[in-house]
Amino acid sequence: MEKNAPNIIELQNISRVFDDNGYVAVQDFNLTIGRGEFVTFLGPSGCGKTTTLRMIAGFDLPTSGQILLNGEDITRLAPNKRPINTVFQRYALFPHMNIFDNIAFGLKLKKISREEIIRKVKRVLDLVDLEGFEDRSVATLSGGQQQRIAIARALVNEPQILLLDEPLGALDLKMRKEMQLELKAMHERLGITFIYVTHDQEEALTMSDKIVVMSNGKIQQIGAPEDIYNEPINAFVADFIGESNIFKGIMTGEKKVRFCGGEFLCMDDVPEGTLVDVVVRPEDVILTGAEEGTISGKVTDVIFKGIHYEITVESGKYEMVIQSTKTPKVGDTVGMDLEPDGIHIMIAEDHITRFEAAVTGDYQLDYNGRIIHCDLTTVIPGARRQGEVLVDGSGQVIDPSRLRVHVSIEPGDIQMSDDVEAGLTRGHIINLIYKGDHYCYVVRTEHGHDLIVDDEYLWNMGDMVGLILPQEKMTFSLKK
Ligand code: ADP
Ligand code: MG
Repeated sequence: MEKNAPNIIELQNISRVFDDNGYVAVQDFNLTIGRGEFVTFLGPSGCGKTTTLRMIAGFDLPTSGQILLNGEDITRLAPNKRPINTVFQRYALFPHMNIFDNIAFGLKLKKISREEIIRKVKRVLDLVDLEGFEDRSVATLSGGQQQRIAIARALVNEPQILLLDEPLGALDLKMRKEMQLELKAMHERLGITFIYVTHDQEEALTMSDKIVVMSNGKIQQIGAPEDIYNEPINAFVADFIGESNIFKGIMTGEKKVRFCGGEFLCMDDVPEGTLVDVVVRPEDVILTGAEEGTISGKVTDVIFKGIHYEITVESGKYEMVIQSTKTPKVGDTVGMDLEPDGIHIMIAEDHITRFEAAVTGDYQLDYNGRIIHCDLTTVIPGARRQGEVLVDGSGQVIDPSRLRVHVSIEPGDIQMSDDVEAGLTRGHIINLIYKGDHYCYVVRTEHGHDLIVDDEYLWNMGDMVGLILPQEKMTFSLKK
């Protein structure tokens, strides 16, 4: 085998479609992993992490694409022929065997002398900090110790690559934190390649050299933890990594962006009129006096988090989560500001205006007292109608007062009218941008929400207009 290839593993255009249901679990996955790297696959449950790992291990075959190991095609090579071992979330130790036999199990199948096996088992027990545990029974070990034995059992084969599929998922938080640091130290001592799977962003940020963020079987972003955290490539990554506030916004000038009811200077030079997603990290929001900020709002929640407070501020229709060492009180009015480098601009993938609606007792949407008709059984997974009420998959009545629904509509589907009572809501034009064949307006509604509206006619700044939002053009999703 060519041990000098610069990359140990290359996944080229890997896809996996399950025959039985046609489900595309992994789609056009391209990744190179350097020798000795600690790479983490990070994404929500069901995004294809385990499927990808199983293909690397050889337990599953890709529908298309190639897997190279040290430059050689191993796509169809049997698992036991690959210098790769896997640690699973469930330790899968043999309960009736002692620790020595558990670890030596794989070696006994190979033709290795007794002395050599004893030496190898001792070595890996030292590695996982359980020296002298050979004769102990599995039942006497804690969850963390059992998982270390499972790691020792994988390491005893001296793999070039260790695959770890949510290995700490079954441990309690304190043990998990400890094991994260131990695994990281182990990786440095061993110098082999680790491919780690988790849905826990904090774990991924702590441990990895490189993170592969996945969603729906596709790679969203590959990068070092700092890059992924500071420069998320889209709203999914921003939302998934770390806490963030995400707003729909619009570029209103050179390095100027309007969102969350205010206009801010930013670093990104995106053309005027571009609809954008804006990410603001809670630690980047500066609390000011009520009158001094670019925007202001009312404190609705303050939680002590150890080193800082997590403060929720309601500003018109928007909500901003802030981390600060200042301690305003619930009900206080505060000002908020942002430095240009605290604003992350991403070009919006969908040109959509979005707002939130409450749900009435008879399961209709309520937007500031106006009713929007919507079939909630198509919005809430598993919900169905039972007489007057909606029930969930397990037959429980769904409480409408606890539901919030996001309503989305394209800016071009909203009509503006002289008749301020004509539509769902009304507001003042606070911004207008000419976009070649139409104008793009920002209309601040009487309830303090900025809606983006495309219209071919020229209106004036400050005009009060009625906004007609046709129900058949709306799409609905449940607020999580
Ligand atoms: P993750 O590990 O990220 O939680 P998986 O790789 O286990 O996700 O699964 C990805 C998707 O593929 C899931 O929606 C899952 O239901 C589906 N899936 C996994 N294995 C099979 C299978 N053998 N047949 C059909 N669908 C599968
Ligand atoms: Mg999984």
